[in-house]
Amino acid sequence: MKIIFIFVDGLGLAPPSPDNPVTEANCPHLHRLLQQAARPIDACLGVPGLPQSATGQAALFTGLNAAQAMGRHVEGFPGPSLRKLVEADNIFLALKRIAKRGFFADGYLADSVEEIRNRRFRSVTTTAALTCPEVIAMRNDLLANQAVCHDLTRQSLLDKGYTGPVITPAAAAEHLVQIALGYDYTLFEFFESDRAGHSGDPEQARQVLGKLDAFLGALSPLALEMGMLMVLTSDHGNIEALNLRSHTFNPVPLIVVGEGGDALKRNVSNLVEVTPQVLRVLNQA
Ligand SMILES: [Zn+2]
Repeated sequence: MKIIFIFVDGLGLAPPSPDNPVTEANCPHLHRLLQQAARPIDACLGVPGLPQSATGQAALFTGLNAAQAMGRHVEGFPGPSLRKLVEADNIFLALKRIAKRGFFADGYLADSVEEIRNRRFRSVTTTAALTCPEVIAMRNDLLANQAVCHDLTRQSLLDKGYTGPVITPAAAAEHLVQIALGYDYTLFEFFESDRAGHSGDPEQARQVLGKLDAFLGALSPLALEMGMLMVLTSDHGNIEALNLRSHTFNPVPLIVVGEGGDALKRNVSNLVEVTPQVLRVLNQA
């Protein structure tokens, strides 16, 4: 069993309302997946306050209640103690222990792991990937379509020295499935959804959701055809409530498409339980 894991930052579940842009009109494929293949899971983790990215993502990718360990929800990029927690154990290290191959498909516009390690701000996913540098994709991988840009189309790389083509979200999905054929677990992170949520701008939200939707619309049938399990989840709500411009207390979706997906979904009720279940499924495969 091969898993494609899509992490969408800041995507919560809320009833239809004029402030919720996650609609059938804006994102028909995502809307259908939410209706047919999702369960709501808790992102608050028993800790007061709004759920935040650093501790939410750490919970998602370590299987530990990072918010509880830190005593609060931590925003944005992890500081030294949260980094230590992620470096001590995470999905990539756990995969290695069970002799499974993991890959972080978001290509860095960098030419060496050192260059990434020396960046001042490192996300939870980057921190986790740096513990197993073989999972990291860089500029050459992007140019060879062996990586996917975080924005799907590579548009955002044009003013950063990227010399390759701009591609469609559907092409990014095709690349991701091709990449995933070579690994047991392939992670892709998309965070423009969280930015759009913070902007509170309906037009920005519509554009970002449309792009993500074109990607998912191509990805989910391809992944199914290849017998893969596609898992999608988030770290906290945000974009589903444009009136707030902050994160929300809403549950986040856990979408699972593919054979054996129901058991995985049944056993997960919060962010902390995701990684243990992913490992269980891979261990059985
Ligand atoms: Zn986040």
